[in-house]
Amino acid sequence: MEPVKRQIKVVLANPRGFCAGVERAIEIVERALKKYGAPVYIKHEIVHNRYVVNSLKDKGAIFTDDIESIPNGAVVIFSAHGVSKKVEDDAKYKELYILDATCPLVKKVHREAQKYVASGRKLVLIGHKNHPEIEGTSGRVAADQVVLVEDLEQIENLPFKSDEKLAYVTQTTLSIDDTKNLVNTLYERYTDIDGPALKDICYATQNRQDAIKEMAKYIDVLLVIGATNSSNSSRLRDLGESQGVASYLIADETQINLDWFEGKQAVGITAGASAPEVLLKQVLDLLSKYHQIVLEEVDGVVENLKFKIPRELEDL
Ligand code: SF4
Repeated sequence: MEPVKRQIKVVLANPRGFCAGVERAIEIVERALKKYGAPVYIKHEIVHNRYVVNSLKDKGAIFTDDIESIPNGAVVIFSAHGVSKKVEDDAKYKELYILDATCPLVKKVHREAQKYVASGRKLVLIGHKNHPEIEGTSGRVAADQVVLVEDLEQIENLPFKSDEKLAYVTQTTLSIDDTKNLVNTLYERYTDIDGPALKDICYATQNRQDAIKEMAKYIDVLLVIGATNSSNSSRLRDLGESQGVASYLIADETQINLDWFEGKQAVGITAGASAPEVLLKQVLDLLSKYHQIVLEEVDGVVENLKFKIPRELEDL
């Protein structure tokens, strides 16, 4: 006789998973493969998710961080995170056919950064070092006009006078609460500083973080489906922890440790903006092998945003 499964509540966050920028980026790759045939080259992982990247590889996409390695004249797609001006120039120099899958909300930050620097302000860029979005945004202005800060300590060590003409922009996928603190500190220290407050943090990041704050009231363990190099997914895990909920970032169901659910009554599940819904299904399948699950979905903001794809791919 099969052992009786313990009942456990599973609460799904809403919204979760793909955002409009990720959907657009994947669609651009799929349509480019259809229109131009394989291979098409992608600068960096199109979005930070191994499942998505592997399924596009199977269809003929080649991922690389090195523009030099791409044959002259080939089709190249810039990932959703955006690229620096230098990467764009290098691609043009090699006469690559460029399709730009940079999220329009990242492009907006690029334009803001350029506008502030053009107006004579030094730029403080708030974000995570080595993240491709930060490399892209900082590489949209002259290197001596921008300084990256990741935390309060780095703000305290900035080399500027208190009345220096400054501006700041932020990465799109940061923690809302942490960024608020950093921005407030900048305003406390500098008298002539301009910036978008928290508006660079995109709607998808905001909505997924709000959903965790709401859900944290009902759960005692949280699973965030997403890649470790996915900034927005990592922030969801951090947020769960900060709400006092044991929180785990998992790429897929194989990374689940069943001990996490010992003595727990309610498991929350969310997915980062680059994690497809199929991964959630696999997680639920695994949980229901060992537990009798009672599924609930929290109400949340309905996201209807859709970004246009490049004109040359529209009629496919
Ligand atoms: S997480 Fe936000 S900025 Fe990044 S691709 Fe999605 S919508 Fe665009």
